[in-house]
Amino acid sequence: MTLLLYDDIFLKHDTGPDHPENYKRLECTIEHLKSTGLWDRSTLVSPRAATVEEIALVHDRNYIDSARKVAEGGGGHLDPDTAVSRDTYKAALYSAGALLTAADSIMEKSDRNSFCMVRPPGHHARPAQGMGFCIFNNAAIAAQYLISRHKLDRVLIVDWDCHHGNGTQEIFYGDNQVLYVSLHRWPFYPGTGGEDERGSGKGNGLTINIPFTAATPPDIYVETFKKMMAVDVLSFNPEFIIISAGFDAYVDDPIAGLGLGPDDFAILTTITMEIANKCCEGRIVSCLEGGYSLQGLPLCVERHLGTMLEAA
Ligand SMILES: [Zn+2]
Repeated sequence: MTLLLYDDIFLKHDTGPDHPENYKRLECTIEHLKSTGLWDRSTLVSPRAATVEEIALVHDRNYIDSARKVAEGGGGHLDPDTAVSRDTYKAALYSAGALLTAADSIMEKSDRNSFCMVRPPGHHARPAQGMGFCIFNNAAIAAQYLISRHKLDRVLIVDWDCHHGNGTQEIFYGDNQVLYVSLHRWPFYPGTGGEDERGSGKGNGLTINIPFTAATPPDIYVETFKKMMAVDVLSFNPEFIIISAGFDAYVDDPIAGLGLGPDDFAILTTITMEIANKCCEGRIVSCLEGGYSLQGLPLCVERHLGTMLEAA
């Protein structure tokens, strides 16, 4: 079964007028998934909220507290890009909680994969700082939760958002239980993600950055992804795969873009599922990160979710 995690609370995180990361991204995607029948074919699951203890698996408690206070005070900004409204803290707890709900279900039942259609996104969130539209690092929290709650030893986070997931990299840079792989446009926001950033100490070699120039053709991107998955990821032999599924590498994304079309995301999904089938009984929690084209995002999510559903 392919789980689809969603709650209307994700529409209530209000980033203000003209912000690219807004509720319409989900509204347009839901409408499209309903019209294509994928919404009904998925197993819809209401997420639980993450607890403060779970958020604190990767975040500083003072930071969590300050994010809550900004929301309770009516809103504000964590950095110039990262807006907080009254409902943002609650939305962020459910956003992280969606991945934990999916992870529990996959570990404890016969479910295999899942897509968490959440906002706010997470991969730029640092241990003690929200940034780049992100409040809490959903993927990182889920990875650490799988290790502490489900006693896993090897978790893969594959991040195909167009931007480098600096927060996720920072959290696991010296860690030997999480392999973090990022494919991203370069040079680009947030500035990190060079090929020479490969982890440190016991995490040495367990951060893999694959930067691409804006002009990289999609077939080169896909071929590079395939090789990296078949060599580096297969030898890591993950027990669980988390996808930081941003869709802003879509060719017409208004703030990013790397030339990929919706079908390319289907190929990335298929390759990831093949590795999951070989290594970990198909266990995947995928979560929405970026993707800002209101026309393109629904098509990309359709191909991503549809590929998981076809195989389920
Ligand atoms: Zn992005």
